[in-house]
Amino acid sequence: AIPLVVAISTTRAAVSGLLIRNRTAFENARKLTTIIFDKTGTLTKGSHEVQNFVSVSNEFSAKEILQYAAAAQQHSEHYIARGIIRKLKERELELWPSENFQYWQGVGVSAVVKGRQVVVGGPNYFKREGKPLPSIPPIFDQNTETVSFVLINGTVAGIITLADSIRETAAQAISTLKSMNIRSFLLTGDNEKIAAAVSAKLGMDGYLANVLPHQKQEKLKEFQDKGEIVAMTGDGVNDAPALAQADVGIAVGSGTDVAAETADIILVNSDPMDVVNMISFGRATYRKMI
Ligand code: ADP
Ligand code: MG
Repeated sequence: AIPLVVAISTTRAAVSGLLIRNRTAFENARKLTTIIFDKTGTLTKGSHEVQNFVSVSNEFSAKEILQYAAAAQQHSEHYIARGIIRKLKERELELWPSENFQYWQGVGVSAVVKGRQVVVGGPNYFKREGKPLPSIPPIFDQNTETVSFVLINGTVAGIITLADSIRETAAQAISTLKSMNIRSFLLTGDNEKIAAAVSAKLGMDGYLANVLPHQKQEKLKEFQDKGEIVAMTGDGVNDAPALAQADVGIAVGSGTDVAAETADIILVNSDPMDVVNMISFGRATYRKMI
């Protein structure tokens, strides 16, 4: 039988934007010592807008770089892909067809466009290939912009940068957690500079950057092995194993179905303060029962 107070609380929670899928996890929420935030979509809006696109080749114009990249990205659901496609539409450029689409999680995509092999990827792509990272022109601000390289037939031909914005209530959420003795960490596949900048700006306890999707779960377990009770927030397919590993897995509303199906709790409004509300609510609920 469901204790009455929990039944009532669960209903009320749904009204205020929390969907509790696993009551045991919800009960654990009051014991949390650490929260790991996936950067994209929870602390930030998860909508990356292209800031700059440039050609670094003699053969292609900046417009063509955007077109090759968009063509290669058209079958990807990733926020970088969506941002590139939005920019293409905003500029009213033609979306070229592509074939042989491939997606490497946490790395990038490849496809054949106009008979040319196109790759759009982040720094992890070069790591994967065992090649040195190309130099990034100083006009790009790597503290705020995510850099994507566009390779055509194996050569870096262009660079596209994208930026996300931090949600208004993110700093308030982090400082409230601190006052509740809960530490917060940023976990992201994005580069170190952005991770450091966001984490410092929000007053977080630390960050883990350049983390590949399969490593997210391992990182979480490392915290648990040290005796921490850990919640994780995430929105992507990539985050599902880590959400499952967490003592409390939290999916944010704007995310994918896979994340929602794995999570213990869903934050319908993607508001970072709802993480705080959820914990306060868990503490209040189970206090009443004892
Ligand atoms: P996050 O931790 O922010 O959810 P992901 O694991 O999805 O990040 O991706 C990590 C990195 O991999 C991105 O910052 C980017 O460099 C690269 N990447 C992933 N998917 C794509 C894509 N579709 N196009 C270009 N780069 C990508
Ligand atoms: Mg993500």
